[in-house]
Amino acid sequence: MAYLNVDEIETALQSLAAEYPALTELIELPHLTHEGRRTRCLRIGADPDRAGVLLLGGVHAREWVPPDALVSLAADVLEAGTRGTGLVYGNFQIPGARVKQVLEGTNLYVFACVNPDGRHHSQTAEPMWRKNRRPHPAGGICTGVDVNRNFDFLWDHTEKFHPEAEVATSADPCDPRQVYRGPSAASEPETRNVVHLLDTRPAIRWHVDVHSFVPVILHNWGSDEHQTTDPEQSFRNPAFDGVRGIPGDTAYREYLPEADLEAEVALGAVMSRAIWQVRGDTYAVVPAFGGLYPTSGASDDYAYSRHLSDPSRSRVLGFTIECAHSFQPPWTEAEYVIREVSAGLLALAADVAGHARSEGCSSEDQRSTS
Ligand SMILES: [Zn+2]
Repeated sequence: MAYLNVDEIETALQSLAAEYPALTELIELPHLTHEGRRTRCLRIGADPDRAGVLLLGGVHAREWVPPDALVSLAADVLEAGTRGTGLVYGNFQIPGARVKQVLEGTNLYVFACVNPDGRHHSQTAEPMWRKNRRPHPAGGICTGVDVNRNFDFLWDHTEKFHPEAEVATSADPCDPRQVYRGPSAASEPETRNVVHLLDTRPAIRWHVDVHSFVPVILHNWGSDEHQTTDPEQSFRNPAFDGVRGIPGDTAYREYLPEADLEAEVALGAVMSRAIWQVRGDTYAVVPAFGGLYPTSGASDDYAYSRHLSDPSRSRVLGFTIECAHSFQPPWTEAEYVIREVSAGLLALAADVAGHARSEGCSSEDQRSTS
């Protein structure tokens, strides 16, 4: 085996949709990439109205494992759920009854390869390519936008953050870190396809963007440290423009309601424990700001910020998993990482499926976090 190329990823999603029509829906994303590629998201679940988990892979081109992991997970869940068997990844096991519960109690929205142009370029020309393949601006020489700096969340970092904040984004198309944010928020077709899913599927309540590598599990926020007491210290409040993004200060910390913080930490722990069970690898669960560096325009914060910007939108808890110990491990190692990602995401799905089922029901139907 080897890593899937971009055509194989799309073909795999289409094949699964054809093989399991009662349990899937193939969603064609409306925006073609700059190189004209069509991308698809496979919804997996018996009841489309159930609360769902959006899973993203391949946002960053050189991170080769996540798309393969998501395709593998989709195939495993559909096969096991149809046969009535459980799944085993190393020492992580989930019985058939809980796989069935995942299929009946929730939906997995598997958007396995958000940025196929970038992946194709990484797999055929420049292995360490990170961005998409937006053609360079007129008179310019540098191609590509960092899709995970292009979302409409504190996108304009020069206005929104403290001048000395080390925000890992750039207004320069030629920035050597490959973190160019794009000409405007949500300028990129890859970004808009993710936004489209969140806009049109209000049942999505959890968002997991699978990247590599660290390893670590990140939850909101990435803009600054969080606090749970002052809603005024918010990305929406222009009084804090030019203040955000400094670690260790109290001038600004992003507001995160206590209940959402607790839910994110608990779900992060569910994923981390399942991953650890596969082969003993430790994925810490940390806020995105503390885990790496201040970010703007990232998908996890954008997903969670949407209901705060517009109360008519669903609340979506945002996570990023940074899997593996390198961008393109040898395939034998990649197979272990695929099992780890599968275990973590399946444990998350089983947890939220059980939780959704128990809402409003008797106390014996309690949420399980095992
Ligand atoms: Zn990444």
